[in-house]
Amino acid sequence: MLKGRPLAKSVDPVAITTANAGSDPAMAALRGVFGFRQFRGFQREVIDQVMAGGDALVLMPTGGGKSLCFQIPALLRPGVGVVVSPLIALMQDQVAALSALGLRAAVINSAATRAENRRVFMALGEGSLDLLYVAPERLLMPEFLDALAPLPLALFAIDEAHCVSQWGHDFRPVYLGLDILGQRFPGVPRLALTATADAATRDEIVARLGMGEARRFVAGFDRPNIRYRVMTKEQSQRQLRDFIDAEHPGASGIVYCLSRKEVDRLARWLVGEGYRALPYHAGMEAGERRLHQDRFQREEGVIMVATIAFGLGIDKPDVRYVVHLNLPQSLEAYYQETGRAGRDGNPADALMIYGLEDVVIRRSFLEKSPAEERIKEIQRRRLEALLGYCESVTCRRRTLVGYFGDSHPASCDNCDNCLQPVESWEGLVAAQKALSCVYRTGQLFGVGHLVDVLTGRRTAKVKHFRHDRVTTFAIGAELDDRGWRSVYRQLVAAGFLTVDLQGHGGLRLTESSRPVLRGEVPVRFRRDPALFGRLEKGPQTRKGGGLFGSLEKGSPTRKRRKRKRSRSPEGQVEV
Ligand code: ADP
Ligand code: ZN
Repeated sequence: MLKGRPLAKSVDPVAITTANAGSDPAMAALRGVFGFRQFRGFQREVIDQVMAGGDALVLMPTGGGKSLCFQIPALLRPGVGVVVSPLIALMQDQVAALSALGLRAAVINSAATRAENRRVFMALGEGSLDLLYVAPERLLMPEFLDALAPLPLALFAIDEAHCVSQWGHDFRPVYLGLDILGQRFPGVPRLALTATADAATRDEIVARLGMGEARRFVAGFDRPNIRYRVMTKEQSQRQLRDFIDAEHPGASGIVYCLSRKEVDRLARWLVGEGYRALPYHAGMEAGERRLHQDRFQREEGVIMVATIAFGLGIDKPDVRYVVHLNLPQSLEAYYQETGRAGRDGNPADALMIYGLEDVVIRRSFLEKSPAEERIKEIQRRRLEALLGYCESVTCRRRTLVGYFGDSHPASCDNCDNCLQPVESWEGLVAAQKALSCVYRTGQLFGVGHLVDVLTGRRTAKVKHFRHDRVTTFAIGAELDDRGWRSVYRQLVAAGFLTVDLQGHGGLRLTESSRPVLRGEVPVRFRRDPALFGRLEKGPQTRKGGGLFGSLEKGSPTRKRRKRKRSRSPEGQVEV
């Protein structure tokens, strides 16, 4: 922060102009102040747009270099650049880094003392700041806006701009108030910056911030060092443990669960198994949460078991894997969450373990939600895209970056589907059997019971409902339980079945089931790979062959490594 520096810009724009970049002040600042040789991606274009007084929507993956897009124009344009960010800790880091470079940056926040904040205000009034970081709550206080009103302003940068999206995963209601900036300060260029925004969210950001004129800059979304995989859920704890043991023993990783309860349970289990695991969710006390985040950030080899409350602002370069034990909120959220792996550019893994229950839960959440139909329709489309990704038989990466409007060549050689092409099978008859069984049993039952009926199991429930007398009883000998569950999962994912609205988990036919029952459309299913099949091709084959290599069930190579059941500090963690 200010620390009694002389109240003049310590980096002199005129001097920059005469630095070794001819009459190109932006380049001179890049080299002379930040010490970089070249602009990255479209940093240059964004800076030119803002220098000319225009607005910009900037989408770049995390680590892409968004900050320079506003830092350089803030330095070169007259007045202070105001940066809005929801992340106080990150603001302080940025200010410290900028001060080290000789820039005049400060942060106003509630964590600082009054005297500190007063000093910042004085510097602001004297026009001796290049950049001011502020939380949106503070910025929007009437007295704060009044204080800014008479000052020359270089720009407003709205960081994490997707927080304005009401249907996104990081919604911050206070962000909705930021549209006032355009009205109160016309003529001051604005940048909205985010690492995550599908087409709908982009439109929402621009609409809610009143930035219809903004030029949009969308960067390449591919993260080539991340290996994407989706696995069918069988016994998720065991799958997780085998994955960690085989591919990332002792590494830092994040495991996302849906609920706080699951987080607590899984973290406790992992600790009991001798792993350094810590829980993190919004139900925990703030101090403990901070402690766990700090430990994850600073220590090596901590497994963070968390709900999606964990993530915004995590900046740890060597996270080796991100595992989802449930469906994420959307592909966008998935991209964002998995993007926390491998920021150092070394090989990293994004693994999703998902099953029919997840689809059922998500579909019934959605249908039961009180949102307007228009919103539900958007959410439905997002869920379709997500399920499309999960059930895809082609390159995951292509599906993922394609969702952001980016393109990728046909095969990436670094996702499960590219490394081990998925087989599909002709499934019309199976689909018809599965659908008729739903129909014959009254469209009231969940998959467990339906599979019992198809495979001819006379359980108490089957007998009670006399389902051993329906025509679909025991007609499914060609598949086992796992096979039928896979069929049902794919039928629900593809919309041939839906979940009953009362939310008992019963499956119902849909409009699109009809053509299948009549045999009018072809149906193909993906063959779920065996849990521990082979996956060896590709540039990143690791020692030990990886999860799909050396860990074939029952194979003699599958040895449980002896883990230390230490009761070291992490063993006593309160979960
Ligand atoms: P983001 O905000 O998009 O996550 P940052 O702005 O924090 O990313 O930048 C990520 C890293 O890349 C930082 O360490 C930054 O110094 C570096 N960086 C940014 N622009 C350049 C550039 N043109 N050349 C080299 N390194 C850069
Ligand atoms: Zn691929």
